[in-house]
Amino acid sequence: MDRDYKAAMLPFFGEGEIGSWVNGAMMPGRGDAFALTDPATGKVFLELNDAGPEVVDAAMKSAASGQRVWWGLAAAERGRILWRIGQQVREHLETLALLETVSVGKPIRDTRVEVLKVAEMFEYYAGWADKLHGDVIPVPTSHLNYTRPEPYGVITQITPWNAPVFTAGWQLAPALCAGNAAVLKPSEMTPLTSLALGVLSKKAGLPDGVITILAGLGMTTGMAATTHAVTRKVVFVGSPKTGAAIAAQAAANIVPCVLELGGKSANIVFEDADLKRAVLGAQAAIFSGAGQSCVAGSRLLVQRSVIDRFLETLVDGANRIPVGDPMDVATQIGPINNVAQYQTIRGLIASGCKEGAKILAGGERPEGDVCANGYFLRPTVLGNVHNDMSIAREEIFGPVVSVIPFDDEAEAVAIANYSKFGLAGAVWTNRVDRAHRVAANVRAGTFWINSYKTINVMSPFGGFGHSGYGRSSGKEGLMEYMQPKSVWTET
Ligand code: NAD
Repeated sequence: MDRDYKAAMLPFFGEGEIGSWVNGAMMPGRGDAFALTDPATGKVFLELNDAGPEVVDAAMKSAASGQRVWWGLAAAERGRILWRIGQQVREHLETLALLETVSVGKPIRDTRVEVLKVAEMFEYYAGWADKLHGDVIPVPTSHLNYTRPEPYGVITQITPWNAPVFTAGWQLAPALCAGNAAVLKPSEMTPLTSLALGVLSKKAGLPDGVITILAGLGMTTGMAATTHAVTRKVVFVGSPKTGAAIAAQAAANIVPCVLELGGKSANIVFEDADLKRAVLGAQAAIFSGAGQSCVAGSRLLVQRSVIDRFLETLVDGANRIPVGDPMDVATQIGPINNVAQYQTIRGLIASGCKEGAKILAGGERPEGDVCANGYFLRPTVLGNVHNDMSIAREEIFGPVVSVIPFDDEAEAVAIANYSKFGLAGAVWTNRVDRAHRVAANVRAGTFWINSYKTINVMSPFGGFGHSGYGRSSGKEGLMEYMQPKSVWTET
């Protein structure tokens, strides 16, 4: 699989050195070198230098002054600039999608959709910018009391590798809409498209310092950014383990957090569902993005009366899904993003089998030259799973579904809720009463009825339990980036 990596980077970075995007320009990292690997080939295609604390300090200072300029603009002007960032993303849709596919390994058909969503996020929040205002409170004294929604100042955002450009747009757009400057540190595995958004924002007329993108490692650059005195709020998207560490880092600085963490979502199929649709839904829920999705439907709960019929179609479908070169538009499943995650997934499958699970489909690297060197895994269906097994308890973040039988609605809900996570879930049924009862009874921040994975920037998203706290997207996500000031006037 040959790739022209230079050509993928050229439209955004030219021939110059790639570092961190600070104060409207590239700033070389001062720390150790780290490598970017193409997940489809296992080849290192670029080395970058970790930003490190000195670059973080310079970035924070420029973000603080950029924020003052940004907040000083008329709200409508901030909206116009956000809109123009959306336009820039639309104009660069194909090149951004290509860069994302090369660095994440996600199929090009998916990255095109995700980049389009980034444009929509900036456009959506562009519309909010001049519609944010406070309330007049009818206090019982002679005062005029009113509230002003104000930005926090500088927000530090830390993001993972599974959907980097989508996640960057998801958090940058509302942060800026509310009048903040954002300092975003993407995963060290996949920083390029976030850096490209920095470059495009300058083309759209965003003042320098309002968006900073730090290329670097978590324990050095991420740590320095989350604990820096200029940071006024931390928004973290990633694993529960890192989320807990980041919440502690932020707490030491008396800074609030939003945590968007992992999941082990239950996808529940009742005997009265349209089973054909439910099978397609179950496949999309777990196999799209090679299962590297926080909302992946990794626990598939199927009513015992239809489980054999359901499994036959599911296994047949899993065996037919095209796995291969993510640059090929026909490919539906690309590689796992990195070797560590690949080994984690294979280790969890092995431990599941030791505990009694049976591989009904997949479990292996696909055959053929295309998949010989990257981190590929065939879509995997595991039967004979009990909800107590590690394969049903731990987030797997790969194309692996554990199928668990149930007898009735109460049991289905009990199994769904027997998890430390609470990010998402779904039910497939033709009974309206059951659909809404199950939606109400499953503990999860997002729930689908006869559907899976539909999300939109207009609607709030976030977790219950170990899936995190705070919300992203929609009005609720915007409110996370503002704090109310109460003003009292003696009349
Ligand atoms: P991770 O927790 O390993 O890393 C996430 C980020 O944290 C990276 O940028 C990393 O460099 C940084 N980091 C690590 N230690 C840090 C520290 N001490 N201080 C500051 N930054 C630090 O997660 P990952 O493996 O990149 O991503 C996979 C996880 O992300 C999965 O659990 C998945 O469910 C979750 N995720 C959640 C959502 C959501 O919206 N809920 C969305 C996507 C992914």
